[in-house]
Amino acid sequence: MANRRGQGWQARVAIAIWPGMNAPNAVPRQRKPDWIRVKAPTSPGYAQTRDLMRSLGLATVCEEAACPNIGECWTKKHATVMILGDTCTRACAFCNVKTGMPRAVDPLEPEHVAIVAAELGLEHIVITSVDRDDLPDGGASQFVKVIEALRRNTPNTTIEILTPDFRNKSEAAVEAIVDAGPDVYNHNLETVPRLYPTIRPGARYYASLRLLESVKRHDPSIFTKSGIMVGLGEQRLEVHQVMDDMRSAGVDFLTMGQYLQPTPRHANVEEFVTPQAFDAYAAIARAKGFLLVAASPLTRSSYHAGDDFKKMQANRAAKLAAAR
Ligand code: SF4
Repeated sequence: MANRRGQGWQARVAIAIWPGMNAPNAVPRQRKPDWIRVKAPTSPGYAQTRDLMRSLGLATVCEEAACPNIGECWTKKHATVMILGDTCTRACAFCNVKTGMPRAVDPLEPEHVAIVAAELGLEHIVITSVDRDDLPDGGASQFVKVIEALRRNTPNTTIEILTPDFRNKSEAAVEAIVDAGPDVYNHNLETVPRLYPTIRPGARYYASLRLLESVKRHDPSIFTKSGIMVGLGEQRLEVHQVMDDMRSAGVDFLTMGQYLQPTPRHANVEEFVTPQAFDAYAAIARAKGFLLVAASPLTRSSYHAGDDFKKMQANRAAKLAAAR
């Protein structure tokens, strides 16, 4: 599916002897640290968001990926809509979305997404999708239709899309989607290249990097964003290299969060990276020139996306003003 994080907030972490690996501040994986704990969702805002999604037959990555932030986000009426159904053609080792043969594309989906944006009064919306390797365009035209429906119905809503890698058809897909004019284009690299064969076996690191690069090439003014999970066994210097690769591809905004194991069938958590280690990663990333960096245990690519979009705009304006 399209690059969602291992977000299982009910993660049952495997009991194992863990050798310590690379992070000096890490704690053993069998104990979920206090900084990961979140409250169960109970607010009226949460229930309203859930009921609206159900009534329109829309899936959300918040639920499908069992995101730990769902209580906070849905209380604030912020949800990430997952288009092209709830079934993914890939089976990434970190992702909780079900794998199988997806249903036919719903022609009403774009209008339903626009209704959600209007009913929730969204200033900013994040749209993602499952991977649809079964479709000739990978689902790119549905992204375009959703963006068009939003522009027609809620012209003041800013639009962020988080797309799959559109394997073997990314040039045409990127061109069509960027031409539709989203405000932010996100595609997550998810992890370091060494771990792709086990964590993201259906994808290729350099293909994802090229996709990000081609977004920027096609429209240098668009904001680009990408993220990785940590805690999968990556080394610190490998993470730094991913940052450099992203910067070479012109990525503006880096997100980093802790991988959580959605079920025992998914990849193990190799370490819980401490908040202090996240701060250290963030400092390095800022020094490498990202316009914005969000790095904390509970950071997810769509967490606080609306506020972060405004910060990104302000940071770019300040940078341009300073360059004059
Ligand atoms: S962080 Fe993103 S995926 Fe998680 S609940 Fe918030 S909007 Fe949904």
